[in-house]
Amino acid sequence: MKTWKKRTKAVHAGIRRSQYNEVSEAIYLTQGFVYETAEAAEARFIQAGDDEFIYARYGNPTVAMFEDRIAALEGAEDAFATASGMAAVNGALTAMLRAGDHVVSARALFGSCLYILEEILPRFGVHVTFVDGTDLDAWKAAIKPETKAVFFESIANPTLDVVDIKSVSKLAHAVDATVIVDNVFATPVFSDAIAQGADVVVYSATKHIDGQGRALGGVILGARDFIRGTVEPYMKHTGGSMSPFTAWLMLKGLETIELRVRAQAATAQRLAEALEADGTLGNVIYPGLASHSQHALVAAQMGAGGTVIAIDAGSQDAAFKLLNKLEVFVISNNLGDAKSIATHPATTTHQRLPVETRASLGITPGLIRLSIGLEDADDLLADLRGAIG
Ligand SMILES: *Cc1c(COP(=O)(O)O)cnc(C)c1O
Repeated sequence: MKTWKKRTKAVHAGIRRSQYNEVSEAIYLTQGFVYETAEAAEARFIQAGDDEFIYARYGNPTVAMFEDRIAALEGAEDAFATASGMAAVNGALTAMLRAGDHVVSARALFGSCLYILEEILPRFGVHVTFVDGTDLDAWKAAIKPETKAVFFESIANPTLDVVDIKSVSKLAHAVDATVIVDNVFATPVFSDAIAQGADVVVYSATKHIDGQGRALGGVILGARDFIRGTVEPYMKHTGGSMSPFTAWLMLKGLETIELRVRAQAATAQRLAEALEADGTLGNVIYPGLASHSQHALVAAQMGAGGTVIAIDAGSQDAAFKLLNKLEVFVISNNLGDAKSIATHPATTTHQRLPVETRASLGITPGLIRLSIGLEDADDLLADLRGAIG
C-alpha cells in the first residue's frame, strides 16, 4: 500500500471488513464493545491491542478506518479523528502545551483558531507571540530557544497569504519546536506538508474531506508517538472524538476527494484568470495566478492554487450588491463544498475582529471569498460576470 498513489489510497486505505466481507465500509454505530470474559475486559483496559476497542470516545472501527485512510493520504504515521476542525486545532495545541510554554503563531487565522491562541491558551499560562506568517524574518525573530510550538494556516483564510512550510519548519526545528499546520485550504490533495517539515497537520474535515456540506469533523495527523502518546489521552478524556456515522461520511468523502478537489481547483484557476483579465474588479487574489505575490512558493509547495478565490468589489455596498445578484453561488460560510459559496468575511466570519485588525489582515470592506464548487465553470463565470456587471 505504501507505493500506491493518493487516488488508490483514497479508495482502499484503512479498510476493515467484518465477517460478512462487505464491499463498502460498515458503520459501527455502537458506543461500546462486549468482552468474552471479565478477564478479557481487564486485559483490554490494561492494554488494548490493535483493533481492540473499548468505548467510542476512545476509538471505533469506522473511525479507525477513516483515521488510517487520511493518514495514508497525508503520508503521516497516524491520525486521531475529532468532532470538528476546532476540536482538532484545540486538541493538537492543548494536548502538548503547559503553563509557561511559548508559542509563535501567524496572525492571519480563522477566527476560532485566533480565539484559542489569543484568548484561551494565555488563560492557562501559555505565552503566544503573533507574527506576519509571510515574513520569514519575523518568524526568525519570534522563535526563541524556549519556543515549544509554532502554529499557522498554510494558506490564510480569507486573504490567501501562503506560509512557507519548509522555511518556517527549519527555523522551528532549530529550537526543537513542534510545527503544527492548519492545512484546510491546501487540502489533503495538494498537501505535502509532512515531507516539507510539518510535524503535525490539522484539517477541518467539514470542508473538502466531506466536501458535500453534511457534517462537522476534524483530524490531527502526525508521528505515532505524538498521536497515540500525546493527542489520544487528551482527546479521549476530554470528549472531542468523531462519531462513527461522521467517520463513515468522511470515508466516503475521501473516496472522491482527489477528483472533486482537482476539478474545483481547475475551475478556480480558470475563473480567477478570466476575472483578472476582465479587469472590472479592484483585486482578484488566487494563489494559482502569476500575479499572486507568492506564486513561486505556491507552485513549489502545492502545485496548484486551491479551491478558493478572493475578490474585492471596492466597498461593502458594492460587495453586498454583487452577492445579492448571484444565482448559482449561494451566500454561506462553508468552503470546499460541491456547491459554490460566496462569503463576505468582514460582516460574517471575521466580524468579531476590531476594524484595525481586519484592515491589517487585508480583510477590506469589499472583500468577497469565493469557494469554488463542482458546477460547470461556464455557469459560474456567467454568474459572477452577471453580478459584477
Ligand atoms: C473551518 C476551519 C476550521 C474549523 O473547522 P470546523 O470544522 O468548522 O470546526 C479551522 N481552520 C480553518 C482554516 C478552517 O477553514
